[in-house]
Amino acid sequence: MRLIERGSGSPRIAIVGGIHGDEPAGERIVDQLAEEVTVDDGTLQLVVANEPALDAGKRYTDTDLNRTFPGDIESDDYETALAPRLTAILEGADAVLALHTSHSAPPPFAIYSELTETVRKSVTGMPVEYVVDAAYLRDTTLDSMLENTISLETGHQGSEEAVEFGLEAVRDFLRVHGILQDEPPTFTETTVVKVEEEVPKGEGEPEVFYRNFEEIPVGEVFARDDVYTHRVKSEGTVPVLASERGYEDIFGLYGRVTGKIEP
Ligand SMILES: [Zn+2]
Repeated sequence: MRLIERGSGSPRIAIVGGIHGDEPAGERIVDQLAEEVTVDDGTLQLVVANEPALDAGKRYTDTDLNRTFPGDIESDDYETALAPRLTAILEGADAVLALHTSHSAPPPFAIYSELTETVRKSVTGMPVEYVVDAAYLRDTTLDSMLENTISLETGHQGSEEAVEFGLEAVRDFLRVHGILQDEPPTFTETTVVKVEEEVPKGEGEPEVFYRNFEEIPVGEVFARDDVYTHRVKSEGTVPVLASERGYEDIFGLYGRVTGKIEP
């Protein structure tokens, strides 16, 4: 793990890249920020989380870091022991942004587990049209562990666009929280999609027919392979993190639009 700290005092705002080692955008964004950002007020923490996995170009070395919080400092699994070290650095921060990329198609989006006032500001102050409410999904992710933490899916894994969009969104996030004061923050309403279930993947050639946040008409097939044909049964279903080869055991998640967050 690598920590770069700039500035002093409060607020303390953290940007975390490299939770997954096969998502190089996060580390590039953190390094670029370390080079260019002048902190106008408060403390900026820049963290590269999982260096061994990044060096190996793999999602993780022993276990998925974002499925292992709160972790266990005594564990022999690298990521399980890393989780509490990372949490200890971030604990008490006023706002945390964790950077991710995926194999699903754009647009970029944010994810939260609990909608606090800080999370509302963070989300509506970034250039994302959608935010995913993941409260019912898992309690082993960084954003479910630490208050006022959001994740940001910046784009397609390995793409330049993911780095560029991530940098733009992070600068906005830093303006929202007063770290950057070069220009005032701007806020826009954001559509909330609540995720409700994972869509399992079996074996054989995977096919996915709908993009993230695209409503799937009732009766239409979202995804299929040799084991599953997932025909949508209820109105208003939209896919989240939809991809054919992004994950070993799921095609993505089903969600539905539940409203908007106003600035
Ligand atoms: Zn990730």
